[in-house]
Amino acid sequence: MTDILISEVGPRDGLQSIDRVMPLEAKKRWIAAEAAAGVKEIEVGSFVPPKLLPQMADTPELVAFAKGIDGLTVVTLVPNAKGAQFAADAGVDGMSIPFSMSETHSIKNVRKDHPAMLEEIRAAATIARNHGIHFAVGLSTAFGCTMEGAVSEDQVVRLAEQAAEAGAMEFSLSDTTGYADPAQVRRLTRKVKAAVGDDMLTTLHLHNTRGLGLANVVAGLEEGITTFDSSLGGLGGCPFAPGASGNLVTEDLVLMLNSMGCKTGIDLEALLKVRSIVEEALPGEPLYGFTPDAGPMLDYKERASA
Ligand code: ZN
Repeated sequence: MTDILISEVGPRDGLQSIDRVMPLEAKKRWIAAEAAAGVKEIEVGSFVPPKLLPQMADTPELVAFAKGIDGLTVVTLVPNAKGAQFAADAGVDGMSIPFSMSETHSIKNVRKDHPAMLEEIRAAATIARNHGIHFAVGLSTAFGCTMEGAVSEDQVVRLAEQAAEAGAMEFSLSDTTGYADPAQVRRLTRKVKAAVGDDMLTTLHLHNTRGLGLANVVAGLEEGITTFDSSLGGLGGCPFAPGASGNLVTEDLVLMLNSMGCKTGIDLEALLKVRSIVEEALPGEPLYGFTPDAGPMLDYKERASA
């Protein structure tokens, strides 16, 4: 069965939406424990100004730490070319820049319209290429926007083509607001792949705001998507999209994919134990997930190795 890459985004997407700052030592323990459970890619932080997001101020230290873990791909978010230079200096394996398909969201989030963002993408792509770093563009609010409502699919396709021309090496379709439904995931994945090439769209970044996260994953699998972003305990969301909360829960995603016979390489029992690190470091913070409450099925191991 297919190999599926799960990219853990909790230390970035999760922690940036919480006001409290998780101590660096706890973040390190979290990252090390997930890698030990078999997670092969982790978004460890974001190169945004610490004044804006003090939760992410220790990203350079986390990159250095995570780079020491064998076999782990270390990625960070970068908001612009300046962030891309910081990420390159820190020695990341990959960086991703969010490009909001809703111009209203883009202006509100990063104070840049689409032409200005395309210039940032071009400059960031050059920095990444010069350092041999993988450079992905996250097409955020691709499935709808809390300010604009529907986002035109033709617009998503056109902006993806322009970002490819500006130097994007790969794309992810991001459901920043939790608006996506499975039919839309299939349709938009097909359209964007047809425009920029199959190999250029391999990742979905889904939220579970309305409970459709796993259904959307299955829709993505059916369209050949091989990488899914998720967050331990569903921690996080987007702080700039009012009402948006709850990333896809890594534990539930691993249970589903392993049960279906996809190869994630992740040990679910070991992953479930990682929650205690986050619970201890952020007492009272709600962690989500069905699998952590119910536990795996009695015959889970037979399913997973089938
Ligand atoms: Zn997210």
